[in-house]
Amino acid sequence: MKVINLTYIHKIPQKSIDSSHNYNLNSANSQTYQLYITLNKDQTLQIGKLGAFFFPKGSYIYTGSAKRAIDARIARHMSKTKKLHWHIDYFLDCKATTITETKKFNQNECTLNQENNGKAIVKGFGSSDCTSGCDSHLIWVGS
Ligand SMILES: [Zn+2]
Repeated sequence: MKVINLTYIHKIPQKSIDSSHNYNLNSANSQTYQLYITLNKDQTLQIGKLGAFFFPKGSYIYTGSAKRAIDARIARHMSKTKKLHWHIDYFLDCKATTITETKKFNQNECTLNQENNGKAIVKGFGSSDCTSGCDSHLIWVGS
């Protein structure tokens, strides 16, 4: 496990996003994405300043958004060599995780996230800025 000091985690000023742009986007402008992730064994991982948590092996869905350059954001998630910044970076830094699929959407990320049938493993994971009451933007959907 890498230990990296971070003083800045997932504090993008989401409120500065024009909320009218969360809806009615065509797919070329989609700004919400989901990563389908497999964790192939039980792991305890340090997630930045949130702390260390036990993650059961299985399938996870992470829902995120990017104001622009969504393909670059997804490509960044796929890379195993990067500075750890967001909570999801710590999860994906684990050698036991693999992104198996990515999807893009034009719905609001929280709406989409809450449609996932699964379990929040870490309260506050990727959801520090949520105004829709998400427990986590990383959802465990089963082993
Ligand atoms: Zn949310």
